[in-house]
Formats: sequence, structure tokens, C-alpha cells
Amino acid sequence: MVTLILRNALVVPMTRDGECFCGDIAIAGDRIHGISRGRWEGQANADELDLSDMAVLPGFIQGHVHVVQSLLRHQADHLALLDWLRLRTWPYEAALDSDGVRAAAELGIAELLSGGTTTVLDFGTTHHHDRVFEAAEELGIRMISGKTHMDVGDDGSAALIEDTDRSLAEAETLGRRWHNAAGGRLKYAVAPRFALSCSRRLLESSAELARRHGWLIQSHAAENRDEIAAVEHLTGLSNIEYLDSVGLTGADCVLAHGVHLNDREVELLAETGTRVCHCPGANLKLGSGIADVPRLIRSGVVMSLGADGAPCNNRLSILQEMYLAATLHNLRHGPSALPAWQALALATRDAAVALHLEREIGTLEVSKIADLVAIELSDWSLLPEGDVASRIVFGATAATVRHVIVAGRVVVKNRTLVSADPRIIRDHVHDAWTATRSRMTQSGVAPPGEAHGLVRGSS
Ligand SMILES: [Zn+2]
Repeated sequence: MVTLILRNALVVPMTRDGECFCGDIAIAGDRIHGISRGRWEGQANADELDLSDMAVLPGFIQGHVHVVQSLLRHQADHLALLDWLRLRTWPYEAALDSDGVRAAAELGIAELLSGGTTTVLDFGTTHHHDRVFEAAEELGIRMISGKTHMDVGDDGSAALIEDTDRSLAEAETLGRRWHNAAGGRLKYAVAPRFALSCSRRLLESSAELARRHGWLIQSHAAENRDEIAAVEHLTGLSNIEYLDSVGLTGADCVLAHGVHLNDREVELLAETGTRVCHCPGANLKLGSGIADVPRLIRSGVVMSLGADGAPCNNRLSILQEMYLAATLHNLRHGPSALPAWQALALATRDAAVALHLEREIGTLEVSKIADLVAIELSDWSLLPEGDVASRIVFGATAATVRHVIVAGRVVVKNRTLVSADPRIIRDHVHDAWTATRSRMTQSGVAPPGEAHGLVRGSS
């Protein structure tokens, strides 16, 4: 039975040979039931949304985010990766209690959905990871996520370091509870943080755990020159060669960044089918460098895009990441390095392949899951008419996202989150950040917002 009809849209199917056309989309339950050029003449008694002056696309997919970091937004600026972790992000994650994890996840998910992102591969912190899945279940995003693992490190990360076996056992329990929950909308991915936070045994056992259950595995790699020098000093290998030696390459493995890679590492990623998520906004803000994405794609590496975390971006906007992906590589390869249509594919069709979800999402086709985003084409920066990929990649922002649907459920309507009460989320964010900031201060970390008297007082 058709439950929702989207009328009068510019349909951008994102299939390989799919042209755009004006038409209707009929949704039945969580699936796309029919797509028609012109008016869909079927069952008439369904809800309708008029998408005149809007483009409808597959919901956007991000291959790397950390919703749990969202409360630290604007509190960790002007730092390079390792200081950003030691001075801000690890103390913040250590200070998060259960309600803090939940509020951070709500904030991150609310922003992601409102900006048109319907699916994410997400990285948790070490504790309270049930609260992230609970928030995702309620707010309605499609999320693959896992608690992070860290079993080695210096003083900066001491509060997050866990016993190797206990940490993995907790992941297994979480995965058994959440993998394929909410009708398959939630999935588990094992998430060892990065080579410098994990013993060799932890990395090997993470890969073994993921493969035993058929879950994805995700980590960070080759992001920052100091990081890769430290990995080489410890292991005698380049970052990707080391990860390959512990089982952290392969088609089920998604590595964020890949900024600094030698020829052998690019070959290894391509040969093994390892997925790489390009995070241009975070790489620029932390001053990490510019991943050579055209070279990776040319070599056959399956790529996606991700905003990474709120404290290193500081937005979770896929439209911003698409814009950066379509402009940044012009510096190295000239102005046609990564055309607008390719940037759009990296956030839809290609990202679905990267996350092994291409049979369900990533394109608009009959019988696929109804994850869709409707973007205003009448916004000033999208006018006049022209190539729709150019208009969206170079002209659209999160503010031009009008409606968002996940699994047939409208979660953002007329630019407002409707799957939860935004006022309650804002209250949760205020209360949780106040409490988290206080715990950080007690443990000797003063967030800059407090130093400058800029933190919102209670009202
Ligand atoms: Zn990350």
C-alpha cells in the first residue's frame, strides 16, 4: 500500500545512466514503490508532499563521522591532530557520562538529518555506546556504528584506555544487541581508534571479531605526518602496510583520511579493496594535508566522503564536504579534477558501495529503501536553471535541504526536524555540555569557551 507520494520533483536518480526528469515518486512503507515521469497515477489516498522547485535525490551517505564528539564543537580549534586529541578530544570523551553521550549523539544526528545525510558510518567513544544507538533509533537516521577501542597510549588518553579483552567483549555484546536493529536501519562496525591507540593484538582481534560476525571494521589511517612518523617508528612500516599486516585492510574495512600515502600504500588499498573515506573539511581545519583523491579513484580505491567530528570541522554538512571535494583537488590536478557529478556520486552511489549497502540505498530505484532528500532549487545560490549537479554541489548548503525521508519516514519536514522535539534536544545539549565542561575543568582541562566567558549561561 502506497503511504506517501512525492509530487512534481526534479528526480535525480544517481543511477549510472539515469537522466534527471520531472516526475513523482510513490513510497510504500520503507520502500520506493514507483517512480514516474510526469504524474504517478496509482492509489490516490496516500499522504502527499509537493516538491515543485525541488530536486529529490538519494539520501546522502557519509563514510566517517563521530556524533559523540558533537558537544565539543567550537571548543578545539587551531590544533593539529595529535594535540587536538591529547588536549581536547580525549579529555572530553573521558568526561562524557551516559547522558552526555546521548545528548552529543542527538545533536550530531539532528544536524546530519537536517543537512540531508540519511546514512552514516559512525565512530563512538569507549563507553555508553548503547546511548548512541538509542538516539539513532529514535531520531531515525540509518547508522552503522561501533564503540571505539584504545588499549595503549600516553597520559592524554589514559582515562580512555581499556583492557583489551574486556573492550572487545563489550563490542561483541553491543554488536549482538544492535546489528540489524530497527528493521535493519542500525548496524554494528568494529572501531579500533588508530594504530597509535591500539596494541597489535587489539588490531588483529578487532579484525577477527568483525569477520567472525560479518560486521564492517573502521579505523583512521595516514591522516597526519607526525602520526605516520610515530607509526613507522613503532612498527618499522608505513601506516597502511602496518594495518595490512594486522588484517585491517580488505573490502570490509573503511579507513578514514588516507592523506599521506606512498605508492605501495595506494596499491595495497586498491588490491585489497579497502575503502577510504575522504574528509576534506577536517583535513583542512587540522592542517593535516590534502588527500590525493583523484589518484586514489584512478587507482581503483572505493571512496566516500565524511565530515568527521564536530570539533574538527566544525560542521557535519555533506554539502560542504562535496563542495570541498569538488574544488580542493583543482590545486593539484587542475579545474576538472573532480567534477560535480562525481562529488555527488561520492555522497550517494559510491558511498553505498563503500559501505556495502548498494543493493538497498544510494540510488533512486523501484524496490530500494526510501531514503531521500529534497533540496530547494529556488534558493538564490541555486539560480538560474542549469546542470543540477553544479547547482547542488557548488550552490547548495545544509540550509537548502527542505525535506528528508529515511526508510519511508519523514524525519525533516520544511527544514524542521520532526522525528524528535528540537527544543528538547537543545535543552539536553545545554545541560550535558555544562556538566561535561565542569568535569573537564575538574580534571584540569579548561575549554576555551570558558576561558573567554563565551559559554551560554543558564537562562
Ligand atoms: Zn575521525
